[in-house]
Order: sequence, then C-alpha cells, then structure tokens
Amino acid sequence: MANAKTCFVIGAGFISLLTVSALIKAAPLKYTVVEIADQVMPQLLDETGGKALERGMREKGIEVMLGGSVSAIERRNGDGYGITLGSGKTFSADMIVCGTGVRPNVDFLSGSEVKLANGVVTNDRQETSVPDVYAAGDCAETHDFLSEERVVHAIWPTAIDQGRVAGANMAGDAHTYPGSLSWNVTELFGLASASVGEFRDRPGLEPIVFHNPAANIYRKLLLDGTRIVGAVVIGRAEHIQDLGVVQAMIRRKTDISKWKHMLGGERINYGMLAYETIKR
Ligand SMILES: Cc1cc2nc3c(=O)[nH]c(=O)nc-3n(C[C@H](O)[C@H](O)[C@H](O)COP(=O)(O)OP(=O)(O)OC[C@H]3O[C@@H](n4cnc5c(N)ncnc54)[C@H](O)[C@@H]3O)c2cc1C
Repeated sequence: MANAKTCFVIGAGFISLLTVSALIKAAPLKYTVVEIADQVMPQLLDETGGKALERGMREKGIEVMLGGSVSAIERRNGDGYGITLGSGKTFSADMIVCGTGVRPNVDFLSGSEVKLANGVVTNDRQETSVPDVYAAGDCAETHDFLSEERVVHAIWPTAIDQGRVAGANMAGDAHTYPGSLSWNVTELFGLASASVGEFRDRPGLEPIVFHNPAANIYRKLLLDGTRIVGAVVIGRAEHIQDLGVVQAMIRRKTDISKWKHMLGGERINYGMLAYETIKR
C-alpha cells in the first residue's frame, strides 16, 4: 500500500465509492472504477444523479468505466495484480477495492424449517416461519414500505427498527413493522449525495426537479398524487441536511398539495413542510 501507485475499484456502489472517497484524500493514486451498470450508484441514484456524481469523480481524476465487469484477477508475484474485463481489456493495479453488494449469509439454515428467500423470511412482527423464532437486520427479508415488495434492506435504520419490533414481540408485546424505506445520505468526492424512498421515474409518478448543472446541484422529488414518495439529491451539505423531513413526509403520507408550488426552487422551506407533517 505504501508504494502503491494505482488502484482498481470493482463496483461503483455505496461501499466502494465511500472507500475511494476516503482513500483519495490520503493517497493520490491513479484510480480506475469499473461498474457493471450503466451509471454509478445504480441502487441509490437515478440517471441524472449518477451523472452528477460521476462528473464529481472525474473532476477528482478518477477514471470511470460503465457497463463493464471483471472476469479474472491474477496476482503477479511482487508486482500487484492483473485484471481482465469481460470485454478482454486488461489492467494492472497495485491494489484492488471490491464492493459489489451484500447478501445475507443464511445458508446454514437451508433444510431447516426457517423459510428462506433473499434472506430469512419474516412476517410483519419480524417472526420467521417458525413460531417464536425472530429475525431482524441484514439477514431478514421483510416488505418495502412503499411498494410492499419483499426486500432485504441492509442499512442501520432498518436494522434498528426491525430489532425493536422483534425484541418487543419476543417479550410478549404486539408491535408491527411498518415496512422498510430506502434511505441513504453520504458525502462523496466533495459532493453531498442522498436518496430516500423511490428515486427512479416510472409511469404514475410526477417528478419535480431542480437542476443547476453549472454548480452540479440536482434534486428530484417524486410525487404520487398529493404525496411525496421519494427524493434524490446531489449538491452541497445544505441541500441534503433537511431530507429527514422528506423521509417523515413519506412515512406519514403527508398531503403536500398546498406546498407543491414551492418544491421546484433551489431552497425548500422544510420548516413549513415539517409543520405540515407533524400537525396531522
Ligand atoms: C462497510 C459498510 C459501511 C456501511 N455504512 C452504512 C451507513 O453509512 N449507513 C447505514 O445505514 N448502513 C451502513 N451499513 C450497513 C449497516 O452496517 C448494517 O445494515 C447493519 O450493521 C446491520 O445490523 P445487523 O445487526 O443486522 O448486522 P451486523 O451489524 O453485521 O451484526 C451482525 C454481527 O453478528 C456477528 N456474527 C455473524 N455470524 C455470526 C455467528 N455465526 N455467530 C456469532 N456472531 C456472528 C457479526 O460478526 C456481527 O458482529 C454499512 C455496511 C458496511 C459493510
């Protein structure tokens, strides 16, 4: 590491990019990132948000390759690594960062009575298919708050909420898990980046967008009728610091009809929206 000059990064998701964002401050190496999807952070940002972040990465001198995947890595004796992409293109690197996603390690339960799908299947009490056996956190599959689809949401807030519900029910109380809400806030390459709930356009949802390409500031709120169901933001700290209000509005299904006209400007009066949300 001390003598490293080049770093090859596999995956442009949250963990890889956080690692590179931290590394680059201390180690001015030549960084090359390869991502299998056609944008960076495909699980957390929409296409425009991904482009804004990619621009921030390129401005830091990082090479970004989209739509590529690694087919082989070989260790060269005393001389770093050789990396081959599916396309046949080859690279040399002194170090490799790999972050290609998480998957619950639940194979030890195969063949048991505990039902498995993408993780340990739980009901809305966090109870598994075996009575009095509960699961919570990164291993547990529950339902998404918005789509009702079965999901494993491997983030802290979800683990904490599920743990609370599981613990209360184990102790004989009757708590219901309301569903997981995707929720990520971070700082990468000097850009604040955040998304909550739904962030991709789809028929039936109305996007309200503020975009200042010159300053690389982008915010999209997605509305389903009169309520917000998601947001994606790239910008500076002040553009994401109040996104917790949006999360609360999604959870509480706040009617924003009265405030819709002020959602497209650079600054949103989140105090007003918070009031609207808590007064219900
Ligand atoms: C690098 C990284 C960065 C992250 N950053 C964020 C972030 O910024 N924000 C966010 O919301 N989430 C983040 N996450 C996700 C977050 O850490 C997890 O969602 C959360 O820790 C899940 O809690 P948990 O209790 O389910 O699992 P864990 O926190 O993983 O705890 C499980 C524990 O069980 C232990 N264990 C495993 N198997 C066994 C066994 N057989 N016997 C005994 N012990 C065992 C493990 O060692 C571990 O200590 C990050 C994850 C990673 C990997």
